[in-house]
Amino acid sequence: MPSPIGHALGGALFGGLAAPRGAATTVDRRRWTGPGAAWWRPALLLGLVGTLPDLDFVLGVHSRYTHSLGAAILAGIVGWWLSGRQLSWGLAFAAAYGSHVLFDWLGDDTTPPIGVMALWPFSQGFYQSDLHLFMAISRRYWLPGFWAYNLTAVAWELVLLGPPAAAVWWWRARKTAGR
Ligand SMILES: [Zn+2]
Repeated sequence: MPSPIGHALGGALFGGLAAPRGAATTVDRRRWTGPGAAWWRPALLLGLVGTLPDLDFVLGVHSRYTHSLGAAILAGIVGWWLSGRQLSWGLAFAAAYGSHVLFDWLGDDTTPPIGVMALWPFSQGFYQSDLHLFMAISRRYWLPGFWAYNLTAVAWELVLLGPPAAAVWWWRARKTAGR
């Protein structure tokens, strides 16, 4: 499962594909996502949404309900509501949040339960692809090689996700500037 950095890049990447440009929103009034907002503000917001599912660490129930289709739909409803009921912001929040579930499914997991409860509330099963596209982040900080291993994992996430995320936001910034 990717690090928070990988998840934030995923949220910015997938959310950025769906987020609207311009259009006044409730969030807008705080100058976060409106036409006058710097491009990085909505990118940061959606990146943050992409990291939210892992807050379940605090609850001690990792990779379950917050890592699901149901939770992604809920995130979409929250985004839709926060933006003054704009469908595209709802889709952006759902996409940013859903990217987390997708990446955890695509990644490697070494801590049971293996995989994520991706289809909850329709299924309580845990799912994990065989692709292992992302390295499992180690939380065993007492082991030798902890830092070298995790830095390699994060470097791989940056290589894989940095260029497409940058491309999406470069393209959005150009469109917003009317070029
Ligand atoms: Zn996760």
